[in-house]
Amino acid sequence: MKVVREIAPLRTLVREARGEGRTIGLVPTMGALHEGHLSLIRAAQRETDFVIVSIFVNPKQFGPSEDFETYPRDEARDLEMAAAAGADLIFAPSADSMYPEGFSTTVEVTGLTDVLCGADTSRGSAHFKGVTTVVCKLLNATAPDNAYFGQKDAQQVAVIKRMVRDLDMPVEIRVMPTVREADGLAMSSRNRYLSDEDRERSVRLNEALSAVRDGLAAGEDLADLLAAAKADLASAGIEIEYLEARDPESLEPIETLDKRPVLVAIAAQIGPARLIDNIIFDPQADLSTQQSLAMQGGPPR
Ligand code: AMP
Repeated sequence: MKVVREIAPLRTLVREARGEGRTIGLVPTMGALHEGHLSLIRAAQRETDFVIVSIFVNPKQFGPSEDFETYPRDEARDLEMAAAAGADLIFAPSADSMYPEGFSTTVEVTGLTDVLCGADTSRGSAHFKGVTTVVCKLLNATAPDNAYFGQKDAQQVAVIKRMVRDLDMPVEIRVMPTVREADGLAMSSRNRYLSDEDRERSVRLNEALSAVRDGLAAGEDLADLLAAAKADLASAGIEIEYLEARDPESLEPIETLDKRPVLVAIAAQIGPARLIDNIIFDPQADLSTQQSLAMQGGPPR
């Protein structure tokens, strides 16, 4: 496995792999790798012939009061883990090589980035400008057939898919399921900020989402379920930023369940860690046949 830190040698190696007829997979990460990242690398390894993992803590996607300086960095461990999971090439650039003197371009997806984590009451939309700008650069530098992202960052997935569609970028966005700890907490590089007590409380996020999913599967009302989950979290002393139901692609709010899949997404500050999680409930797949027939206006005549 090779490690490169500049765009020029990266392009040379990509060209060589292409010349050998290999397909290319890209897995963008900020390092501090865990099983969630490794599941993306393994998927890329299964589906493409040459797997590039980028490791770059992107300063442009952190707000001034966020954890850029303290974000966990352990490159030696990351390299070992990525190699074991099937990476062929690591791209680990410096901030200066990604954003040289005079860098002045931003890639922005509008609308989708104003809600959930992009709302002013949350991280704000500047976060997503940082994400789309760096992902666009990484896609341009590696020209992959497939790029791999985690469902854990559901809004990021929606935003990146929209960018790729709007800008006709010739890449397939592959989305892999959220990998969880044994007790259900979504894996995140930020989980290591949690004290033992915060770690225990953090499972409440997934429990709240699971309760909404179970209630929806049992035919209960979406708004009632969200209200009950919010009350439960408040009684556990968890201050949520949001718990909302939205269309997974357009991120438009969904008030009542119909035939469309619904994204239920949560963000909360637990001690020093800002955590996010989500589920997608698909009525067509997840409701009992009787209930879905009822929603579609009764059984076919
Ligand atoms: P990050 O290093 O946090 O920027 O994440 C890099 C990629 O890994 C993103 O596409 C994330 O959605 C994905 N990822 C992070 N955590 C998980 C997880 N628990 N399960 C699946 N994918 C994840």
